[in-house]
Amino acid sequence: MTTELSPDAPAGLVERARQDYQELAGRGLSLNLTRGKPAPEQLDLATDLLSLPGGRHTSADGTDVRNYGGLQGLPELREIFAGLLQVPAGQLLAAGNSSLELMHDCLVHALLGVLPGAASRWADQERIAFLCPVPGYDRHFALCERFGIEMIPVPMTDEGPDMETVERLVAEDSAIKGIWCVPKYSNPTGVSYSDATVARLAAMPTAAPDFRIFWDNAYAAHHLTDEPVEIADLLVACAEAGHPDRAFIFGSTSKITAAGAGVAFFGSSPANVTWLLGHNAKRSIGPDKVNQLRHVMFLRDADGVRAHMERQRALLRPKFEAVGRILQKELGGTGLATWTTPRGGYFVTLEVPDGCAKEVVRKAAEAGIVLTPAGATHPYGDDPRDAVIRIAPSYPGLAELEQAIEGLAVCVRLVGYERRAA
Ligand code: PLP
Repeated sequence: MTTELSPDAPAGLVERARQDYQELAGRGLSLNLTRGKPAPEQLDLATDLLSLPGGRHTSADGTDVRNYGGLQGLPELREIFAGLLQVPAGQLLAAGNSSLELMHDCLVHALLGVLPGAASRWADQERIAFLCPVPGYDRHFALCERFGIEMIPVPMTDEGPDMETVERLVAEDSAIKGIWCVPKYSNPTGVSYSDATVARLAAMPTAAPDFRIFWDNAYAAHHLTDEPVEIADLLVACAEAGHPDRAFIFGSTSKITAAGAGVAFFGSSPANVTWLLGHNAKRSIGPDKVNQLRHVMFLRDADGVRAHMERQRALLRPKFEAVGRILQKELGGTGLATWTTPRGGYFVTLEVPDGCAKEVVRKAAEAGIVLTPAGATHPYGDDPRDAVIRIAPSYPGLAELEQAIEGLAVCVRLVGYERRAA
C-alpha cells in the first residue's frame, strides 16, 4: 500500500473539508475505535458458558476439575483445538485465559531459564533482539520493551514479513532470538502468511541456536468470508527442516467465547512443551479446569467451534463492510488514503499520506472520535512514515461505527488537503 500526495488540491476542497470538520466537531460525538474488543452481542453468543458446567465437575477421564493438578489442561479441550491450531493434542497445553500471558511467560522463562538448544539464559547475554514485522501488534512490542529486548522492524508484504530481510538478519546476528508473527488475518494488516513464507521461516539458517518463532495465531478461526484462509503447518515445516524446536504456537478463545474468560493455548515440540510445563509447575499447581470443562461442554468439538465462529461472523461482517463502503465513498479517488479489505481478523489498516497519521488522529480526537494512537503499530510507537492508522470496527454498534468512520474520513480530507495545499 502506498499513498502519495498528488499535486496541489484546489482551494475548494480544503474549504469544504474545513466546513465539514467544523460541522463534525460541533456534533459533540463520543466514539471509540481503539481496541479490538468483541462487542457485547458477540459475547452474548456464549452466554450459555455462564451457566456451565451446571453442577458437573468431572472431566472425560473422571478427573475432578475443581481440584489442583492437570497442568497441561483437559485433554478433551486440547483435542478440540488441536486441528485449528495445527498442533497435536499431546503437544498442546491448555492454560489460563490469556495467550498474551503465555507469550509473556515464554519470554520470562527464556530470559531466566535455558531454552532447549540454548547455550545460556537470554538474561546472561549482552544483547537480545526480536524481529518485528510492521505494522504489527502493539502488545508484542510492549512485551519487548518491558524486558529490554531490542526490536528490529521488518516490513510486511502481502505474504507475511519480507523474507529476504528476515533471512539476512537472522543469518548474520546471533542476538536475534525471535520473530513475532500473527500468521492468519494479521493484526493490523489482515495479511495471511503464504506457504512459501512459512517454509522459509521454518528452514532459514539462524545465527542463534535458540531462535524461536512466536507464532501468535490469535485469529485462526476468525474468517470474514466464505473462503476461510488455511495457512501451512509451521510445526511440521520446522520439524521437516531440522528445526523441531523453532516454533512457539499461541492461540486462545478470547475472541471465540469470552475475551476475559476464555482459554489460552501453547503448542510446540515435545522438548519445548516439557520445558514450559517444568517452569509452569513452579508457577501454578494447575489451570482453571472448570473453565476448560465448560468450554468443552459449550463448544463440543471442532465443528462446534466453526459453527460458533459463523455466528460471530454474521455480527462482524456488516461492520467490516460498512468500513470499506464508507471509506470508498468518502475517500475513494482522492489519492489521500488506501485501506485493507481483510478476509478475517479484527482490524482494518488505513494508510494516509506520509506525515499525516498523527495529525489525523489528533483531529479525530478533538472531534470526539478516539483512534488507536498513530505509531502504535510500530516498535517504540514510532512509525517512521507517520502514515498508518489502525481501525478496530468490532466493538461499536453499526450506527456508531458508521458515524465514526464518516468522521474519520472528514479528518483525513482535512489534514490531507491542507497538507497538499501548503
Ligand atoms: N494476539 C493478538 C494478535 C491480538 O490481536 C490479541 C488481542 O487483540 C491477543 C493476542 C490477545 O490474546 P489473549 O486475549 O489470548 O491474551
